[in-house]
Amino acid sequence: MSQSDALLFLKALKEDGMEHLYIPDKSVQTVALPEKNKSGKANVANKPETSIEKDSVRTEMLKLHKQVMSCTQCPILVKNCTKVVFGSGNIHAKIVFVGEAPGADEDIQGLPFVGRAGQLLTKIIEAMGFKRDEVFICNVLKCRPPNNRPPAPDEVVNCRPYLKRQLELIKPKVVVALGNHAVHALLQTEQGISSLRGTFQEYEGIPVMCTYHPAYLLRSPGEKRKVWDDMKKVMKRLEEAPE
Ligand code: SF4
Repeated sequence: MSQSDALLFLKALKEDGMEHLYIPDKSVQTVALPEKNKSGKANVANKPETSIEKDSVRTEMLKLHKQVMSCTQCPILVKNCTKVVFGSGNIHAKIVFVGEAPGADEDIQGLPFVGRAGQLLTKIIEAMGFKRDEVFICNVLKCRPPNNRPPAPDEVVNCRPYLKRQLELIKPKVVVALGNHAVHALLQTEQGISSLRGTFQEYEGIPVMCTYHPAYLLRSPGEKRKVWDDMKKVMKRLEEAPE
């Protein structure tokens, strides 16, 4: 990033109500493909245990990806969507952001959070000191509901096991649930985001920070500061989490 780009970026953050940049002490994690031996099989002998674990997470995630891409459990969604949006980012991430469902831009590109709300989420992630590809981003539903309607209860029931498996494999230290539908799907609660926002809840032993969806922030920019306060709590939790 050039100096002028960096200044523009900082100015945009300030306009979005963020006054501090967080620089965590961490290194970028990369995913390595398993090395192959002469027989073409993955050579796991003498590999450190963590490396073998990472290979296995990658293999399992690829299997899950294949399964999701061919899923037809919600006929209305399958009929209307263009691309299935599995999620993107680092499959060994410390933090996972979970939204509601793909919108029009995401449906076309097959990637989560790439529209205006996604650009705001990217700014939030970068202000936290991460690059977008260092975290994992996904939605409760992997297929776009027609006309961006809210997910139907049966669709959430159908798709939730995929989200569960993604989180089992990634094993993040913190999940950020963005908006009502993500909170409801993860926590299986009827409590609204207004009462849970800013609090850590728990999903399968993982702390879940409940906060507003970036699309809501575009409609109500005055609420951005609250989300930034929530993200500061997330960063503190990450610092305190054991490696
Ligand atoms: S939303 Fe989820 S469960 Fe429904 S068809 Fe798409 S991938 Fe399958």
